[in-house]
Amino acid sequence: MVYATIRQVNLANNLGVLGFIGGCMNAGKTSEIDTVLDRANELQLGFLPFSYEGDTRGNTKKLVAGRKDRNIEIPCKSYHEDNPEEIYRHIDEADERLRKDGRYAHVLVFDEAQLPDYKKFIPILQKLREYNGKSRLPIAVGLDRDFRGRMYEISRFLEGEQGTVVVKIEGFCKAHASEKGPNKSCGALATRTQRVISRGGLEVPEFPFVIGGDKTIYGCVPAPHWDETRQVEGANEATYYVPVCSHHHRVPGKDLVREIYDFFNNNRCNGGVPLQKIRDEFNREDNLDSILKWLTLEGGLEIREGKLRPREVTVHPVDGYLIAQSPDEIMRDEPETIYTPNQ
Ligand SMILES: [Zn+2]
Repeated sequence: MVYATIRQVNLANNLGVLGFIGGCMNAGKTSEIDTVLDRANELQLGFLPFSYEGDTRGNTKKLVAGRKDRNIEIPCKSYHEDNPEEIYRHIDEADERLRKDGRYAHVLVFDEAQLPDYKKFIPILQKLREYNGKSRLPIAVGLDRDFRGRMYEISRFLEGEQGTVVVKIEGFCKAHASEKGPNKSCGALATRTQRVISRGGLEVPEFPFVIGGDKTIYGCVPAPHWDETRQVEGANEATYYVPVCSHHHRVPGKDLVREIYDFFNNNRCNGGVPLQKIRDEFNREDNLDSILKWLTLEGGLEIREGKLRPREVTVHPVDGYLIAQSPDEIMRDEPETIYTPNQ
C-alpha cells in the first residue's frame, strides 16, 4: 500500500494499479477528483467519471471542475455493481469518441465507491485495469469509514491490496467546541464522519453541529450504533453528516450492542441462543427490536428455528477473501433470517 497525494500518482504509466481516494464526509474528495481531471488533461489522457446509480443526492450526475481560467462540466455516467456490462459499454463509447485524438478512456473515476457491494465491485475494478487491450487506471473515490468509524470493506480491501495507490483526505472538525465559546467549531483534523438525526425540537445542547460552513443544526442527536449503514445524505431529510475529529465523534449504543453480543457468545450452545432468552435478559431495553434487526441485517447473525445464530463465514469464490455470508445467502432473499418484532 502506498499513501500518496494525487500529484504523486503517475496517471500515465500504471499497469495493474488501482487508485483509492478515501476520507470522511465533506473532507474535499471532490476537489481531489478535480486534481485528477487536471492531471489527466495535462497528460492528454482520456478521463471518464462515474457516479453511483443509487446515489439520490442528484448533484452528482455532473462533475463540475472549475479551476483557474476554466470551468468544465463533465457529465458522469452512472454505474451499478449489478450491471458491469453498462460500465463496459460507457467505456467502449468513450474510447470511440476519444479515438480521433489518439486517446481512450484511461482514467476511470468511480464516486461514492463505499455504496456498491464490494464483493461484486472490486472484481470489476480489477478487470478494468486492463480492459479491451488497454491499460487503464480505475480510481475508487469514497468514504473510508462508516458513521461508526468502522472501515468500509472496500477501503479495508484496497488499502491492504498490493498495487493500490491510496490517497487519504482529511478535513477539519465541524463540531462545536463549547470550550471555545458559542459558534466556534473545533477545527481539529477530521478523520470521522458523524451521522446526526434531527429529533424535531428535542434540544441536545452538547450536540449542535455546523453544517456546510455557516448553517448550524440544533436539536440533533448522534445516530445510534444500530442505524443502518447504507444511508445517503438527503435521502432522509432528518439525517446529516458532519466531519469530526475522533474526540468529537459519538456513536451511542455501542456498549449495549457489545453487551448483547457478549451475552450471545456466553450463552451459545448448539450453535445459537433462543430469541426468548435474549428478550428475557434485555427486555428493559427500548431499542432491543432495532438492535436485533441490525444484528441480523449487518451484524453477522441470523435467526433460524427461533434461535439467534452466527452467519456462516466463507471464502469468496473468485477473490479468496473472507466474507461473512456465503455467496448463496447473498444471492438469496432471506427475510426470515432477519429479525422482525413479531418473532
Ligand atoms: Zn473536534
